[in-house]
Amino acid sequence: MSIIDWNQKTTEDLEDFLKPKIILPGTEHYAGSYQGWAATDHLPAMICACENTEDVQAAVDYAQKMKLKLSVRGGGHNWEGLAFADGGLVIDLTRLNSISIDTTASVALIGGGVKSIALIAAADEHQLVAVTGPSGEVGVAGFVLGGGYGLTTSSHGLGSDNLLAAEVVMADGSLVHTSATENPDLLWALRGGGGNLEWSLSCTFSYILQNLYWPAGSCSTSRRQNKYWRDTTN
Ligand SMILES: Cc1cc2nc3c(=O)[nH]c(=O)nc-3n(C[C@H](O)[C@H](O)[C@H](O)COP(=O)(O)OP(=O)(O)OC[C@H]3O[C@@H](n4cnc5c(N)ncnc54)[C@H](O)[C@@H]3O)c2cc1C
Repeated sequence: MSIIDWNQKTTEDLEDFLKPKIILPGTEHYAGSYQGWAATDHLPAMICACENTEDVQAAVDYAQKMKLKLSVRGGGHNWEGLAFADGGLVIDLTRLNSISIDTTASVALIGGGVKSIALIAAADEHQLVAVTGPSGEVGVAGFVLGGGYGLTTSSHGLGSDNLLAAEVVMADGSLVHTSATENPDLLWALRGGGGNLEWSLSCTFSYILQNLYWPAGSCSTSRRQNKYWRDTTN
């Protein structure tokens, strides 16, 4: 269900709404915003620095109305620069970086733009382990959507195994919640389906954090891995 029915809005409404968040080529922040890990010649026509789910919905709807190619930027570490649509609109999720940890359930609710290092550090404060790869700048969402292997794969599974639920903006701008009991097919698809999945944009994720002290066999390994990540990631 959509928070706001953006489809009822005109292109001008959407432009007014998005204007403060749009970064255009030739402006001060453009270069830094579109560069990712991969060296490509992709030059997006505009970047929308989204701050919340409504921004994402509006950007999706705007791109549809303007027939612009869309891509989504999480941590920007896709090997082919898929986060940066050449000539298209980039939905930049970097500012969706909130992390909220439920220590009782050992679950983190994270924004779609959270980087691995931030989740590792937040989990570590509670002596919990986040299943991520060893490179701290990789986006958790991109990692999870692609499967996600790392130093804890043998003990705690792939990243996608630890995804519990997500809030997803669909191609028509609607907002859908998915979990094991709500729209479970979508959760299945997110678990390894890759990014840009027929236009689903995951704004928040509910992600299992592993307890360092259970199961006993993996605790010392996990603790060492956490320390290794803290000491070596950038
Ligand atoms: C230096 C380096 C080290 C790596 N190490 C590992 C590793 O140890 N284990 C491993 O499994 N992988 C590893 N990878 C691969 C990495 O996990 C994937 O490339 C991952 O997709 C990057 O995610 P990102 O968010 O940083 O990248 P982005 O380029 O921002 O996004 C990657 C893809 O996911 C989509 N996407 C990102 N966020 C969202 C979202 N919230 N909703 C919908 N779609 C989204 C993007 O559109 C794009 O298609 C590594 C990559 C690099 C460059």
